[in-house]
Amino acid sequence: MTETFDSTVTNTNGTGASQAASRAPIIARTRAELKAARANLGDGDIGVVMTMGALHEGHATLIRRARAREQHVIVTIFLNPLQFGPREDLSHYPRMVDADLEICRREGVDLVFLPTPDVIYPDGDPGVRVSAGPIGNVLEGQARPGHFDGVLTVVGKLLHLTGADRSYYGQKDAQQLLLIRRMARDLDFPVEVVTAPTVREADGLAMSSRNMYLTESDRETALCLSRALRAGAAAAAEGPSAVRRAARAVVVKEPLALIDYLVLVHPSTLEDVPEWYRGEALLAVAGRVGTTRLIDNIPISVGPGGGALEVFSENAGRDQPPVNRAGSVGL
Ligand code: AMP
Repeated sequence: MTETFDSTVTNTNGTGASQAASRAPIIARTRAELKAARANLGDGDIGVVMTMGALHEGHATLIRRARAREQHVIVTIFLNPLQFGPREDLSHYPRMVDADLEICRREGVDLVFLPTPDVIYPDGDPGVRVSAGPIGNVLEGQARPGHFDGVLTVVGKLLHLTGADRSYYGQKDAQQLLLIRRMARDLDFPVEVVTAPTVREADGLAMSSRNMYLTESDRETALCLSRALRAGAAAAAEGPSAVRRAARAVVVKEPLALIDYLVLVHPSTLEDVPEWYRGEALLAVAGRVGTTRLIDNIPISVGPGGGALEVFSENAGRDQPPVNRAGSVGL
């Protein structure tokens, strides 16, 4: 049996369910419910947006992209234990299912898959996992050993379970996006991987469910990440070392941001680009602010006429009222 979400639930903006007249999505919590609900969707392509919940405008943008193209849109909300290390924030990760479901309803999602870990991993930790390979061991993978094996394993399972034709991911998690593309190609997953640019707060901070952890002063400190990317992108015409220098000059002025890496890498190998390099590159940063680990990146074109390849200061694709509850209040 599937259930539907009560569309009268009030979201955290206090605006209630009156913003749109979309039908409440079907909610499936078990494999059997998902199978039945999926069969009921009928003909037409299916797009899936995978999330860990605590939805914000970044997620909503992905959903909207899917909604614009697909006959049917499935959102998965699953906090995947396999991708969290023992000292990471799994137990503290924000959970707000009612508000998430309200966003799904507002965005016209057809089906929400909301499993618990025992539904996804009925035999406990899977002995067989997808290996992310060498690209899974650098940058985020170096800081979070095993993280990307956990990500790819659950993404593979959710692709099988939902049977989606297309799957939507944010540029915000550039390394994850690259690895999912590689998995789909290397392991012949019959799915198209679609992406959307990073959605930012008006001041440039990349939206993230983890922004909820930031205190007001952390929030101010955290801005140095996007400022560094912007400064690096502005120097793109002068070559790689100018980009790195400009970006570093910003973060060194903010000692409260404990930078883990700030790199200019090739977008498909994630290796540092040499000084002679011209063309597309990824300027990526990660660091800890207070107790929160934050990541951000911007694709840039290096060389004459170069610069950011993504809109920077605006919320890309924002054509709806903001739904982010993570830090847009009182900034
Ligand atoms: P998460 O719930 O953090 O696992 O994210 C689910 C999906 O939303 C992933 O594909 C993320 O890359 C994407 N996403 C998260 N934050 C943003 C953002 N600020 N802009 C665009 N996509 C995002």
